Amino acid sequence: MTSFVSVAIDGPVGAGKSSIARNAAKKLGFIYVDTGALYRAVGLYCHRNGVDMKNNAAVTAVLSEIQPEIRLIDGTQHIYLNKEDVSEEIRLPEISMAASAVSAVPEVRASLLELQRNMAKTNNVIMDGRDIGTVVLPDATVKIFLTAAPEIRAKRRYDELIAKGVETTFEEVLADLNQRDYNDSHRATAPLKQAEDAVLADTSGLDFEQSCELICNIIKEKL
Ligand code: C5P
Repeated sequence: MTSFVSVAIDGPVGAGKSSIARNAAKKLGFIYVDTGALYRAVGLYCHRNGVDMKNNAAVTAVLSEIQPEIRLIDGTQHIYLNKEDVSEEIRLPEISMAASAVSAVPEVRASLLELQRNMAKTNNVIMDGRDIGTVVLPDATVKIFLTAAPEIRAKRRYDELIAKGVETTFEEVLADLNQRDYNDSHRATAPLKQAEDAVLADTSGLDFEQSCELICNIIKEKL
């Protein structure tokens, strides 16, 4: 049996997980899997259909209607919700909050587990999320917990949203980020936390290039 290499990158909102992981995956020739997109697809479905996301039973009741799918198109991850490409729509701020709400529902997490594990069974992957090193891939070859100071993360996220033409303020972005981090680290099932065997990487004082270098070096050391 061929065994594949897996790199788990977890951390709070806006730590740069996706851009850094994407960059490292390209350098290493691995597939990049953004697991947050799956929670966003479930959140989008609930948002569109007026499902009460604070009600676990209401969210669980619609799960059989939701088929999220990850497809790689020219090496880029696209997320499909019931055969519709929703890769752009899931990035809206209200869908970030919806994803955060539905991700606390244990049945939602259970429904997405196999899909994530299967990607790592058949590819060399860099997978980012909140519980990859702790729950999804507990035997990952490399585990990294990526973080930075909240204000720095909020500034990066704010710049991204403004560049996309989303109307928002820095204060709104910071409040949203703090709320999501609180939700993610306080939920009962698979909360955001550093795995015991994860390497802590703080990118507060680093620019993008330096952050990528740090992560690539951590990965290369462990391979
Ligand atoms: O990473 P991203 O910000 O796109 O994730 C959206 C939301 O999905 C997070 O705020 C978190 O609540 C949830 N999530 C999760 N577990 C993951 C990935 C994301 O709970 N592995």
